[in-house]
Amino acid sequence: MIVITKPDITEERISEITQYIERNGVQPHVSRGTDRTVIGIIGKAEPTLADHLRQLKGVENVIKISKSYKLASRDFHPDDTIIDIKGVKIGGSNLVIMGGPCAVETPEQIDEIARLVKAAGGQVLRGGAFKPRTGPYSFQGTGVEGLRMMAEAGKKHGLLTITEVMTPEYVDVCAEYADILQVGTRNMQNFDLLRKLGTIQTPVLLKRGFSATYDEFLNAAEYILAGGNPNVMLCERGIRTFESYTRNTLDLAAIPVLQSLSHLPVISDPSHGTGRRELVEPMSKASVAAGANGLIVEMHTDPDNSMTGDGVQSLFPDQFANLLKDLEKLAPLVGKQFNTEKQPAEAFATWKM
Ligand code: PEP
Ligand code: MN
Repeated sequence: MIVITKPDITEERISEITQYIERNGVQPHVSRGTDRTVIGIIGKAEPTLADHLRQLKGVENVIKISKSYKLASRDFHPDDTIIDIKGVKIGGSNLVIMGGPCAVETPEQIDEIARLVKAAGGQVLRGGAFKPRTGPYSFQGTGVEGLRMMAEAGKKHGLLTITEVMTPEYVDVCAEYADILQVGTRNMQNFDLLRKLGTIQTPVLLKRGFSATYDEFLNAAEYILAGGNPNVMLCERGIRTFESYTRNTLDLAAIPVLQSLSHLPVISDPSHGTGRRELVEPMSKASVAAGANGLIVEMHTDPDNSMTGDGVQSLFPDQFANLLKDLEKLAPLVGKQFNTEKQPAEAFATWKM
């Protein structure tokens, strides 16, 4: 249930209403929007509560919400959530670009890629230190050592960092080194992990499970929000369909649908969403045109020798830079601003194909 307050309501009155809600044994969540303050109610309320609330001074309307997720829904929080990480804003009209390798391999590799991401105008360095691999004999990542390498490269080149966390036990160490924690597609419903992420404030990029519906996806986000961490972004990374030409089918419709159902930023991953390098550029542009708040793109200086085999979907650095140049032109056409601190072309000079 949500309580929509009158436009001229005072802070004092909002506080009286929230106290009234608490006295009724349920939990109020206040969301201050540009036009209105909305009070969401969580918990099992007495059937008569809605009628009582409707009669209170300062209340314009009370609406019952049937969705199973509450804090993630736009009904509870009409304005876009904007997550500010060290001055980089994610959500609303800002377009954020995250780029980097599938996995952190060596200090030299991540340093060089970080330099190229920054030079192209990206704001976030991606790289997995703990890799969720389909087979147990495949390369599993460089672990804590990889986290250190990436944190150093991010700091040196002025980039935020994002890395995947797979288990609750590793949340604290990953949060110590990275600015954003990624929950991979295979862990979207790892509820212990989601609960643990709800106990910290580090921003989380939650990837859609490859067979998850929008409702299941938003309920997974709800676990993190309900735990007390409001800094969640959703990531469409492709779903499993009957088509085998592409690794996954990037569900472009998910972008506007999730943005209508939820206030959380929506990031698109055209790399895992297609599994094919030549499709990353068109699907990146399509994602931005569909309203994505950002992209997470794999880029590698030596994709043929990438340690995870995701080289086939990784852009070469010059392709990444050209994509960002085009996105700079596209962004304003779809109401987005792309704040890049690009560096001159010489920044690419030492990288050889
Ligand atoms: C990744 O980002 O490298 C990754 C493993 O992603 P996903 O969980 O979407 O497969
Ligand atoms: Mn990958």
